[in-house]
Amino acid sequence: MSHQTPDRLHRQALEILASIEGRTLSKKERAQLPQQAMPAQDPLVRRATMSEVTYGYSEEQARVEAMRCLQCRNAPCIAGCPVRIDIPGFIQAIEERRYQESIGIIRESSLLPAICGRVCPQENQCQANCTVGKLLKDPFQSVSIGRLERYVADIDRRDSGGGVPSVKPETGKRVAVIGSGPASITVAADLRREGHAVTVLEAFHRPGGVMIYGIPEFRLPKAIVDDEIDTLKRMGVEIKTNFLVGRTRKLQDLIEKDGYDAVFIGTGAGLPKFLGIEGENLVGVFSANEYLTRSNMMKAYDRSRADTPIFQPRKVAVFGGGNVAMDAARTAVRLGAETVNVIYRRTRTEMPARAEEVDHAEEEGVIFHFLRSPKRILGDEQDRVIGIECLSYELGEPDESGRRRPVAIPGSESRIEVDTVLVSIGNDSNPLITRTTPQLQANKWGNIVTDENGKTSMERVYAGGDIVLGAATVILAMGEGRTAAAAIHAMLSR
Ligand code: FAD
Ligand code: SF4
Ligand code: SF4
Repeated sequence: MSHQTPDRLHRQALEILASIEGRTLSKKERAQLPQQAMPAQDPLVRRATMSEVTYGYSEEQARVEAMRCLQCRNAPCIAGCPVRIDIPGFIQAIEERRYQESIGIIRESSLLPAICGRVCPQENQCQANCTVGKLLKDPFQSVSIGRLERYVADIDRRDSGGGVPSVKPETGKRVAVIGSGPASITVAADLRREGHAVTVLEAFHRPGGVMIYGIPEFRLPKAIVDDEIDTLKRMGVEIKTNFLVGRTRKLQDLIEKDGYDAVFIGTGAGLPKFLGIEGENLVGVFSANEYLTRSNMMKAYDRSRADTPIFQPRKVAVFGGGNVAMDAARTAVRLGAETVNVIYRRTRTEMPARAEEVDHAEEEGVIFHFLRSPKRILGDEQDRVIGIECLSYELGEPDESGRRRPVAIPGSESRIEVDTVLVSIGNDSNPLITRTTPQLQANKWGNIVTDENGKTSMERVYAGGDIVLGAATVILAMGEGRTAAAAIHAMLSR
């Protein structure tokens, strides 16, 4: 894919607008308008910087993209959005330059539009259902709903001057919210708005969950997440960091001794899985989570200012094909690795990572090895990684997930020389709270079991986000938080 400069994309949009000025477009003409590409930093430049890769649409690009929407009466896109944003409504407002109205429509359903507009897997959600994509027989040509959401959210961030949502009079009820990722932020904001006193208890020294420690700056600037946390504080939410529930305080003590009227558990899925293959304990093997946390949260990439050590990669192998794998690979590129190899046992089509992240990784020089899987990690006499041995695979019959099962080809071993291995094959739930709270029901994967309102097996205790769903997405975690907050508020109002 060739890189187009922001100026060029902006000029093209200007020309389109000039060519249709004063005309009412038919649906056919709208669907034929060219999809607006996202302006991005030159891949060669961004390889060496942590700053955000994409710049966001210009106003003209946003208007052309908004014009591609057919304003379908049945709006199938809405059913694909976990929080049911009125998508045609907010897009029409952009076309008509009613930006404050547009963000107002989005905010009725979503608390974090600047974040979701950047990181939602739109191609599998709202955009998967878009009529334009269907008409053009290419789901990637759907209306760019996420980019438009980001556009209007960024205008709002720039212009709103940090307004604070109104908070109802104090109810005298107290709620503890464990964790500070998107599920917890949503619960804290929704309950505080209703006048309840909310305290967020976060294990790390910095709040924000995966949005701070996992997703890198070049994809989601931390300032955006910090602003959301600031808004919570200005609403009167108390945030206690370095507070590990299960160690600092047990869950039942929060209710029985500390007097909280309700507890929400939003502790995510931060426990990395490993393959269990030979060599996984060699020097130079890391979980992608640890690597990303060092780089993102502890700022290890900023060697002039941070003391956090990070293994200096030269030749890297990343195991996995999801968003975490892409983030780890692209972080290694920015930390100066000469070659970064992603090893994935299916093909590109089955990769769970967002398509845009895979494209960006490829543009930045990441090498993909499809239909290959590591068999063992090789070390030298000092137990340092010197390479990996892989097996080649072919795709067999579909498995229970519907994806074709990868089948190893006997005798197909091959080697790749590397000194760093980043394991990124998924995360489980952290078991600390369930282990220290025997009465809290969890399933066989360690996820907390809830009813449809987020209520757990314990009275006054609710849960949501990755700790319930298993590793999922920001918007799903947010949706779960919203449901649980409504149930907690109803319970506290009885
Ligand atoms: P989290 O965001 O995981 O937050 C949980 C918080 O709880 C953490 O801050 C943790 O420190 C804290 N905590 C844990 N245990 C305790 C305890 N005992 N006491 C107190 N605090 C505790 N999703 C997308 O939609 N798009 C993406 O592009 C995307 N990319 C991702 C990239 C990476 C590297 C990772 C790891 C995930 C990515 N995800 C992405 C998934 C998404 O970030 C998660 O689904 C989402 O953050 C889950 O939100 P949550 O609120 O459930 O928990
Ligand atoms: Fe699409 Fe996510 Fe926005 Fe919903 S929140 S409309 S799924 S980008
Ligand atoms: Fe617009 Fe696509 Fe939604 Fe139709 S399905 S309203 S074209 S975004």
